[in-house]
Amino acid sequence: MGESMSRRLKLQLGGDADMEDRAFPNPFPDYEAAAERQAEEPPCSRTPLSPEELGLPFHSDGKIINNFARRIQTKIKDLLQQMEEGLKTADPHDCSAYTGWTGIALLYLQLYRVTCDQSYLLRSLDYVKRTLRNLNGRRVTFLCGDAGPLAVGAVVYHKLKSDCESQECITKLLQLQRTIVCRDSDLPDELLYGRAGYLYALLYVNTEIGPGAVCESAIKEVVSAIIESGKALSREERKVERCPLLYQWHRKQYVGAAHGMAGIYYMLMQPAAKVDQETLTEMVKPSIDYMRHKRFRSGNYPSSLSNETDRLVHWCHGAPGVIHVLMQAYKVFKEEKYLKDAVECSDVIWQRGLLRKGYGICHGTAGNGYAFLSLYHITQDKKYLYRACKFAEWCLDYGAHGCRIPDRPYSLFEGMAGTVHFLSDILAPEASRFPAFELSSSQRDTKVQKDY
Ligand SMILES: [Zn+2]
Repeated sequence: MGESMSRRLKLQLGGDADMEDRAFPNPFPDYEAAAERQAEEPPCSRTPLSPEELGLPFHSDGKIINNFARRIQTKIKDLLQQMEEGLKTADPHDCSAYTGWTGIALLYLQLYRVTCDQSYLLRSLDYVKRTLRNLNGRRVTFLCGDAGPLAVGAVVYHKLKSDCESQECITKLLQLQRTIVCRDSDLPDELLYGRAGYLYALLYVNTEIGPGAVCESAIKEVVSAIIESGKALSREERKVERCPLLYQWHRKQYVGAAHGMAGIYYMLMQPAAKVDQETLTEMVKPSIDYMRHKRFRSGNYPSSLSNETDRLVHWCHGAPGVIHVLMQAYKVFKEEKYLKDAVECSDVIWQRGLLRKGYGICHGTAGNGYAFLSLYHITQDKKYLYRACKFAEWCLDYGAHGCRIPDRPYSLFEGMAGTVHFLSDILAPEASRFPAFELSSSQRDTKVQKDY
């Protein structure tokens, strides 16, 4: 017994050690602690406890308290300055949204969105011009290819009322379509390098400029190429019954948002993608359910169908990416099980989401914090706003935790620009959205004036 005990203990410690290697233990009390303090308050007390006394960063209506908002604003200014300085030595030819100049253009577009300060829009234009001079024709997606600079260019020019330039970007964006729908191409379907990443660019343009900016037939063609590809692999792998739409990247069936099924199903379920109800119910839904059966007991998801180690809690691999597809499935199919799984994802992210990899979007604390913001949108439960604020508080100590320095330390998806994006969304949580992934929803896109 002693021996089996010690082996068990060792396994347990081994597991914890691996976890500690990837994430910091979360030092913050969870929301319930603050809520309990509120409940303990004697009913006869004359003045109700303030958010500060309760340890809450927001008022009862969800508005961020001034003190916390000021700390965030100061940090944004500080990080923007460091970022601009650091970018002076960044790769001049990297025009991607993921690690390059389009990502910086997107950040300034975001700051324009939340502050309405025109100078941010002009800043964004500077970076857009730079990217449009440097298109390289190698890749086709929003995050890593030419579709990113072209789609962001179309939107920035549109906002500046330069319709001719905007149209020119859209025309060039649509010229990429041929390689996307070509049946003989070995283009994958995932978000970073494949068809779903091109589809996002089309949907982004239509959401930001207006329906019809990209014609429906173009969207339809891309959607059907993605569906045909998923059906073909499912047939090949004899999974037609269990998982009618199956995808792979580099011969591996990835699950997560960046390279896997989660990112692809998420795009197919966007209302702007206009996938018909039958395809959604008969093809997408069972495939999502198949993916759900692969989740770990912790509530986290494997990086690929063949991987059985519960290790990564990133947007790219694991619960922080899969949670978005679950929330979208809940919106589309209106079944509680999807929301329940999303809530479990959020618990894993709360426990293991303060990553040693840093404060970025793809595999960092900011990207993980967005899971809470999105869950707050659909549940209106302050618990998730609270958790998002605590991840933002962690980001206020940027660089103080001894995290690894990413290869592109100032970029949108790996570095500082992504952290600023997340912090600026904390100031207007109702209108927040994960960059280059979530599409804006007009219902909650209220403009909020912020001073920084
Ligand atoms: Zn990543």
